[in-house]
Amino acid sequence: APVILWFRQDLRLADQPALVAAASEGPVIPVYILDDQAPRHWRMGAAQRWWLHHSLASLDKDLRRHGSHLVLRKGLAAEEIVRIARETGATRIHAVRHYEPWWQKAEEGVSKAFDLCLHDGNCLAPPDTIRTGSGGPYKIYTPFWRALAGRMPPPSPLLEPRITTPDKWPESEELEDWGLLPVRPNWAKGFDAEWTPGEAGAKARLDAFLSGVDDYSVRRDLPSVEGTSRLSPHLHFGEVSPAIVWHALSRKADAAKFVKELAWRDFAQNMMLVLPGMGDRNGREAFDHFPWRTGSEADADFAAWTKGMTGYPIVDAGMRQLWATGWMHNRVRMIAASFLVKHLLIDWRRGARWFWDTLVDADYGNNSLNWQWIAGSGLDSNPFGRIMAPLTQSPKFDAGGYIRRWVPELADVPDAAIHDPEESGLLCPAYPAKLIGHREARERALAALGRARNTA
Ligand code: FAD
Repeated sequence: APVILWFRQDLRLADQPALVAAASEGPVIPVYILDDQAPRHWRMGAAQRWWLHHSLASLDKDLRRHGSHLVLRKGLAAEEIVRIARETGATRIHAVRHYEPWWQKAEEGVSKAFDLCLHDGNCLAPPDTIRTGSGGPYKIYTPFWRALAGRMPPPSPLLEPRITTPDKWPESEELEDWGLLPVRPNWAKGFDAEWTPGEAGAKARLDAFLSGVDDYSVRRDLPSVEGTSRLSPHLHFGEVSPAIVWHALSRKADAAKFVKELAWRDFAQNMMLVLPGMGDRNGREAFDHFPWRTGSEADADFAAWTKGMTGYPIVDAGMRQLWATGWMHNRVRMIAASFLVKHLLIDWRRGARWFWDTLVDADYGNNSLNWQWIAGSGLDSNPFGRIMAPLTQSPKFDAGGYIRRWVPELADVPDAAIHDPEESGLLCPAYPAKLIGHREARERALAALGRARNTA
C-alpha cells in the first residue's frame, strides 16, 4: 500500500526523516495542504505566500527528478490528509513534528483517525527532551542553551532516499490557481532579486555564508554589511534542516556565536510548549493591564511606523527594507520593535501582526518570542523600563550606509547628520519630522509602566 508524506514546514528532500521513513515502507504520495482555516488569525501572511509559491514549485521540480510529484490540496489539513489516505488506500502518514498550536491540534486530529508517524527534524534537539534537573521545561534562554549545547552534535543529516511512486495518484490542485503571488500592485517586485526559495536556494545561501562565518560575531550587528546568513526563511520553511546547518558550520573556527543564535530558534520552539498561545498571550500577566495607546492618534502613528515615516532614520530604514525585501536585519528589528512598543506605546501584538504579514521568515515561535522579549512581557525578556535609544544605536552600529540605501530622501545627508537630521538642523523637506522626541517618549513610557504597576 502507498504511504503518505505530509509536507509542512519541512519542504526539502535531504535530511527529511519523514521522507526516509516513508520511502522505506512503500510507494510515496507527497502531499502539501494549504490550510487557511486551522491557524485562524495566524493564517500565513502575504510575504510568506509569495515564498511558499516558489518553494512548492521548487519541491515539485525536485520530486519530479524521482518520477514523483507533489499533490496539492487546500482545506482543513487534518481533514484533507485523512481524505487523501482514504482515497488512495494509504495505511500510514509520515510527517515531521511541528509545535505551532494549530499543527499540534491537527496532529492530534489526524492520529485519531489514522496511523500518523511523527519524526523529529525541525530543531537541533526535540524541545521536549531538553529538561531542567527537576524534569520541567526551561523558561530562560541561558540555561536552555547550556542544556542544548550538551546535547550537540545533532544526528548526522540523512541522505535523500530513492523514492518509488504509486500506481494511482490522487487528484492535485494547480499551484497557479492558489493565487499565492501578488497581482496588482505587485509589492513583491524586490523579492526576486533578494531570494531563491527552495532547497537549492537554501543550499546556495548556506554555502555562501560558510566563507563569511569567521567574521560573524563582529559583523552580525552591522546592518550596512551582509554579515548574517539570511537563512531564516529557508529555516522557517524547512528547506534546510538545522542539523545540516550545524554540521556544515561545525568545521568553522568562529561558528560558536552563530550556533548560539541558531539555538534561539530551538528555544522559541520550546516556548511554544511552555506558553501556548504565545502570539496572543503575555508571558507576564502584569502586561494584561498595560495602558497601550489606542484610538485615531495611535492608529496614525502605527501607520507611519509601517510605512517607515517616523522621523527616526534607523527605524524608517528598517521598516522600508522589510516592505521591499520581506526581511529586516536583526539589530534593526530590535530597534524598530522597541520604538513601536516604547516610543509609540503601541501593543507589541500589533507590531507582531505587521511582521507576520510582511516577513518572509515570519515564524510563530521566533516572532512572538522576540516581540515579547523586546516588550518586556515575555517570561525571559528585556525589562520594559530599559528603553533603547534609536539615535544612539544608529551610530553605534554604523548604520549610515544602511539608512542611505533604504531612505533615499536622506541619501545626500553627510555622515555627521544621517542618524538624526532633524537635530542637526538640516532641511530635508521630503523626510518627516519625528513623531515624538526621544526624551518625551521615554518619560511617557516610564509613566505608563508606573501606571501598569499600580493596576497590576
Ligand atoms: P543569522 O544571524 O544568520 O542567524 C541564523 C539563524 O538563527 C536565523 O536564520 C534564525 O533561524 C536563528 N536566529 C537568529 N537570531 C534569532 C533570534 N533572535 N530568535 C530566534 N531565532 C534566531 N526570526 C525569524 O526567523 N522569524 C521571525 O518571525 C522573527 N521575528 C523577529 C521579530 C523581532 C521583533 C525580532 C527582534 C527578531 C525576530 N526574529 C525572527 C529573529 C531574527 O531577527 C532573525 O532570525 C534574523 O534576523 C534572521 O536573519 P539571519 O538568518 O541572517 O540570521
